Amino acid sequence: MSEQKEVYLVIGGSGFVGRHIVEHLLARGDIACVFDIVQRHHDVDFYSGDITDESQLLDVLTKVHATFPIFCGQQTGTTCIIHTASPPHGAKDPSIYYKVNVDGCKAVISAAQAAGVQKLVYTSSAGVVFDGGDVVNLDERAPFPEKPFDAYNDSKAQGEKIILEANGKGGLLTVALRPAGIFGEGDRQMMVGLYQAYQRGQTHFQVGDNNNLFDYTYVGNLAHAHLIAADKLSSPSLPTSSQETLTADTLKATLHLDRALQPVSATIAAKRIPTCEARPLGPYVTLPPNAVEMEAAFNAPRDPHTPAHPIIRSRFDQFSDNAIEFAESSPLQVAGQAFFITNGEPVYFWDFMRVIWLALDPPLSKSPSGVSARAQRPTWVIPRGFGMVLGFLSECWASLIGKEAGFTRYRVGYSCATRYHNIEKARRVLGYEPEVGLEEGVRRMVEWFKKENNLP
Ligand code: NAD
Repeated sequence: MSEQKEVYLVIGGSGFVGRHIVEHLLARGDIACVFDIVQRHHDVDFYSGDITDESQLLDVLTKVHATFPIFCGQQTGTTCIIHTASPPHGAKDPSIYYKVNVDGCKAVISAAQAAGVQKLVYTSSAGVVFDGGDVVNLDERAPFPEKPFDAYNDSKAQGEKIILEANGKGGLLTVALRPAGIFGEGDRQMMVGLYQAYQRGQTHFQVGDNNNLFDYTYVGNLAHAHLIAADKLSSPSLPTSSQETLTADTLKATLHLDRALQPVSATIAAKRIPTCEARPLGPYVTLPPNAVEMEAAFNAPRDPHTPAHPIIRSRFDQFSDNAIEFAESSPLQVAGQAFFITNGEPVYFWDFMRVIWLALDPPLSKSPSGVSARAQRPTWVIPRGFGMVLGFLSECWASLIGKEAGFTRYRVGYSCATRYHNIEKARRVLGYEPEVGLEEGVRRMVEWFKKENNLP
């Protein structure tokens, strides 16, 4: 009997992440269609609709997709939903977040169950664990904050909870991916803000001491993660909550939990990020005695085929026996689980911005060593506390004149926080490896942006 092909419906497939997912699906010969409130591409079947209207969704989910019956045999309706839709960060009315990200998720689940869809991959956000304080190598055991940072992150957390609680109910398997700081070709948020700062000549201002490590995710890596999450949701080698056939010991052996993972740089051929102030060894004031060896090891090319060495698990570790035994649901399975997805290359917050600004400099403005006069301007450092005061004053002034403040306490807090996450669970259980490094991702994004905007 021939294997039935999945039919993917990408909700939010006209957006930045959604479009990359569609392209990845098409590239591997899969059947993809899009559900969105706007249409931006015309190479796949498109269904116009709002996820907050369950009937619109149900109608599409049960549709006989016009172009596909030949390929799908008996299967004509959607078998897997990839749900990426959300209002963008920064909406004036926070109620839109709850309407789309909470009520919308409920509608997606209800429609999916009614239509007999088998799999649902949800694009959550790493921000679901952010409460304004530092996030240091956090793994998925961390609870949602008691006091959410803002309405957007709160609604994403509530949406994720609804999606994961639906796992195993009505024949539906669900998984949530939590990306952090997505960037790449097609980005309509981060790049626009950074280019505005570049145009206004604000690139030599820095808020905070820039000792805060931050996570970013290249959009192509994230799209790939969605595809493998969808594939692994029904993988026979990993159990779902409703079909616990494999013992924890078998799974631990399958996932090689006793062996260290290769460094991320083994897959992405990472090099040191070339910024004016990059510090490869971390924020040392005085370099340690073995600095030269450390730097040499940092720069040495990695061989992905080197055998991994054994590791010792401690009780602080999410994959220790205790942690697995006492987990509410097995972290060794895909279904019903959340996974942080990042590039696994945390960098200092302002270093990342500087790499992008440096790439924006026209080639002719650069010296033979690749640095422009703009990049050589001395940096003005605004301490965090003073930044907060400025942010408060700017917010007061903006409310007096009835405009939106550009420099806010939110932005100060955001640019001074440490925020990086542990992606071991995604690497072990999903088999996720970032394939495009930060440097290459930035190059691709800026090249795309320059082309779009006719920049030199
Ligand atoms: P985007 O705005 O580019 O795309 C979202 C798409 O969803 C848009 O095409 C939009 O039209 C559609 N949409 C919005 N409301 C809808 C509705 N009610 N019904 C149907 N479609 C609707 O956003 P993105 O950057 O591609 O983000 C994708 C997902 O990733 C979102 O869920 C977002 O919360 C999450 N995320 C993004 C980032 C980031 O840095 N961009 C970081 C973490 C998480």
